[in-house]
Amino acid sequence: MEQKEAEKYIKAGKILSQVKENAQKHIKLGQKLLDIASKIEAEIAGTGGKPAFPVNLSLNSNAAHYTPSIEDLTAISENDVLKVDIGVHIDGYIADCAFTLDFTGKYGKLVEAAEKALENAVAMAKPGIELRAIGSEIEKTINGYGFRPISNLSGHGLEQYTQHAEPSIPNTSTNDSRKLEDGCAFAIEPFATTGSGIVREAVQTEIFALEEERPVRNAHARKLLEFIAGEYETLPFAERWIAGNKKLKFGEFERKVALRELMQSGAIRAFPILHDEKNSFVAQAETSLLLHEGKAIRLV
Ligand code: MN
Ligand code: MN
Repeated sequence: MEQKEAEKYIKAGKILSQVKENAQKHIKLGQKLLDIASKIEAEIAGTGGKPAFPVNLSLNSNAAHYTPSIEDLTAISENDVLKVDIGVHIDGYIADCAFTLDFTGKYGKLVEAAEKALENAVAMAKPGIELRAIGSEIEKTINGYGFRPISNLSGHGLEQYTQHAEPSIPNTSTNDSRKLEDGCAFAIEPFATTGSGIVREAVQTEIFALEEERPVRNAHARKLLEFIAGEYETLPFAERWIAGNKKLKFGEFERKVALRELMQSGAIRAFPILHDEKNSFVAQAETSLLLHEGKAIRLV
């Protein structure tokens, strides 16, 4: 990896570290998820970086991909375990991190299990380590707390404008003997759950990303596709970002039609909410690393 690229990852990581610290300090019981996400995204925009994806605020059995909709009234209650997943990019070079806040007072150990699994995995992450060794360590750590890791969610490589690149970094023991290589940026993100350890897709989708620029007939869909390609490239975006956009000036009907047409043509893909079984609780911890000139650099 060139020094210039490494510096962009490091800068994205520095910005994200600050944003994460502020979020940990300021998120409180009773706040609306929509206000939290908007505030964090506005803060990122003020730093010279950009959000690499909509802030994910997944509660309880939702493990990932929940971002508030434009009219979302959900507020944090004392029955909630909240995952806060934030990304920053500089010219497409992404830093990705997440942490969990327990408002119940009952799931401190679940949060600790995910955090400890992350720390153990980070300590192993250097060039030459096999991916399965990291997965085993995460699984062993989370099992040691009496919880399950989520096996069908994983860490991932980070490439320019690609949030989920190869290699995928397992959260359980697998037979993947590939090794982490120098010059690679990646995120490790263990999930600990009281549920089954397998997530499923919900119907609700608030997050989308450009898949391929394809011809579409509807004029609003065409305008939206051009906007997405220019504004977000291949990084994920939220429907609420489109809804509030002054350049597009779409009403709700136009927005829904345009999004539906882009989905149907395969120009964009959806990231449905991913949840474990009903009444379960999930905790997540995530950071990003860069292997550069033989050393592991923690970005966040
Ligand atoms: Mn993340
Ligand atoms: Mn990630």
